[in-house]
Amino acid sequence: MSTTTHPFTPEEIMTFVDGELSADRAQSLSAHIDQCAECTVLATELRGLSRQMASWEVEIVPKPLSGQVTAATQKKGTKTKPLFGSVLNQRRLPALSLTLKVASVFAGVLFVLAISVPNLLRSRMAVNEASAVGSLRTLSTAAVTYFDSYGHYPPSLRALDDPQVA
Ligand SMILES: [Zn+2]
Repeated sequence: MSTTTHPFTPEEIMTFVDGELSADRAQSLSAHIDQCAECTVLATELRGLSRQMASWEVEIVPKPLSGQVTAATQKKGTKTKPLFGSVLNQRRLPALSLTLKVASVFAGVLFVLAISVPNLLRSRMAVNEASAVGSLRTLSTAAVTYFDSYGHYPPSLRALDDPQVA
């Protein structure tokens, strides 16, 4: 859809759908939509979209959750009120510090794993590579030895094991 064939931009149609276009502009846009199939489709899509957005906004915070949040905030408010450490605060503090300790130990373990796992994988790769190079070297030596004995290179790996196979 190009703006040359339609006297209204999609933004204007959006504004019209939201009911925020000026009255005279809205009238001529509505007249155009009556004649233009493309703009009718666009307006219908935008209307559906704005309806979805409206209903989505209503559902942002479910009531039970917002109730819980309010309750939690109120509880927190009463908890922080006493300045000189109420029984509640004294009982909660060790629990919090234990949680923090567990969390920091866990974070430390994750940190060590994050560093050591790639290193382990890398060293495993190095070992495998060295093993492959060693096998090829052995094979090469065996082939040369075979050549010295039989005047030609082994036709297959099995020939190295049993020269009768040839
Ligand atoms: Zn149009």
